[in-house]
Amino acid sequence: MIYLDYAADTPVDAQVLDLFCRISQDAFGNANGAHLLGKNGKQLIENATIKIKNQLNCLNMAVIYTSGATEANNLAIKGVARNYRENGRHLISTCLEHASVSGSLKQLQSIGYEIDLVSIKKDGTVDLDHLKELIRADTILVSINYVDSELGICQPIESISSLIAAYPNCFFHVDATQAVGKIPIYLEQIDLVTFSPHKFFGLNGMGVLLKSDSLILEPQIHGGTSTSYYRSGTPFTAGAGTTALALELCMDELEERLAQVALKSDWLKRQLSAYPLVAFNCTEHSIPHILNLSVKGVKAQAFQAALSDQEVCISTKSACSTDNTPSRSVLTVTGSRELARSSWRISLCHLTTDSELQEFMKIFDYCYKSLTKK
Ligand code: PMP
Repeated sequence: MIYLDYAADTPVDAQVLDLFCRISQDAFGNANGAHLLGKNGKQLIENATIKIKNQLNCLNMAVIYTSGATEANNLAIKGVARNYRENGRHLISTCLEHASVSGSLKQLQSIGYEIDLVSIKKDGTVDLDHLKELIRADTILVSINYVDSELGICQPIESISSLIAAYPNCFFHVDATQAVGKIPIYLEQIDLVTFSPHKFFGLNGMGVLLKSDSLILEPQIHGGTSTSYYRSGTPFTAGAGTTALALELCMDELEERLAQVALKSDWLKRQLSAYPLVAFNCTEHSIPHILNLSVKGVKAQAFQAALSDQEVCISTKSACSTDNTPSRSVLTVTGSRELARSSWRISLCHLTTDSELQEFMKIFDYCYKSLTKK
């Protein structure tokens, strides 16, 4: 098997898994319990929280543990919308967002909130002039991802946050799920940040929402307190501990891994460019981990199935949108319905080997020839 779908999920790191087992066996007591095991658990969570804040250089933010980035995005968006509804009911986002962001916004729209989508330029980045035009006195939230999951475009977060900072009633939420652990990130002047450790060799079923201390959210899950008022349920002590460790491990090697992935990505792009029907949908702003391409005239699902028959794992759109409709993100950036229909994603990480990529190219060549011959 050749796995080239690391943007969807990554294998858990052996040290992370080992820590999961140790905490689950040795510190299994409810971390809110007023006994020895409870106190140990609470301490473990507090240590993990401090580590996460230090790693991401966000000491003035609270760490809210969730079941994944999906839950964290729902909590961030609906939590602001409901708590600050007296300030306004206008929210701004983009059409490059994950389903958990666009779905939360759609739900708010159905109960009377107004949603605007900011234009995306040809290079895939947010049109800052348009964003400026859209922000109003009653805009309470702008939600823009750091890096989108399909095209891997890295947004100018620093410029966006400086722009939003001029509007005191407007908060800025950044879904950083595809950025954390892959590229250096900038979190100054951002009120809410979402990420998920299963994208960087941590556990599935775990997510984090960073929230600036001054912001108040309306909880979306009620009934008891977990590690904070914002999220009920028995605290997932091993989830917190392993998230901190997974983050630490990848931040320690961030630059090296990024350089390795960039080399592999460049090689792959050069090889694929030799095929006349290949068009790259990613832009110069895409991170090297994500390579989105179309083989013109061949539906994405057909190419995916042919590769899958040869035991190559890639994905069409994001794994969270399984329907067969053209990719909205690719359509937005390329303006071409044909490219949007035939687009698929290769995603790499530092574990991807040169021999896997060479083998992939042989299989790609075979699939390309059989699917494009008249
Ligand atoms: N946001 C982005 C940008 C993602 O890529 C994903 C996962 N595909 C999510 C949110 C949802 O993450 P989770 O699976 O942890 O809910």
